[in-house]
Amino acid sequence: METNRYSERLEKHGINPTAIRILVLKSISGKKEIFSLLDLEAELETIDKSTLFRTLVLFQQNKVVHSIDDGSGSLKYSVCDEECDCTREWLHVHFYCTKCKRAYCLRDIPIPSVDLPAEYVTDSINYVIKGQCPGCSNFANKLQ
Ligand SMILES: [Zn+2]
Ligand SMILES: [Zn+2]
Repeated sequence: METNRYSERLEKHGINPTAIRILVLKSISGKKEIFSLLDLEAELETIDKSTLFRTLVLFQQNKVVHSIDDGSGSLKYSVCDEECDCTREWLHVHFYCTKCKRAYCLRDIPIPSVDLPAEYVTDSINYVIKGQCPGCSNFANKLQ
């Protein structure tokens, strides 16, 4: 039954649900946080690395995951909400903690709209704020 749910989701996004793709989706669906290809490689040791990479690229192209370029040099990924089609309304701010080097999806914060001159065409938008996350900023301590 579980597996059905994953294969349905893949089919909905126009992806042929092979066993490996279902396995990858299953693994990333449980993640609350942003992950990198390296994280996935460590988790899914049985899957060939280039297959894993191609699967992620496919997932991204078909809007199962979105990528985050936090400037650290390696692309990060996060699972999209079920209904997300990665259109403008779904784009949200990402936060990169310079202390613990973790990236976060701030799904409730839409990115501000920028009016570009007419001759500029947007391909993708990456809105990343850098600073300290709640765990690193000692926010609770500062309140006292
Ligand atoms: Zn942090
Ligand atoms: Zn995100």
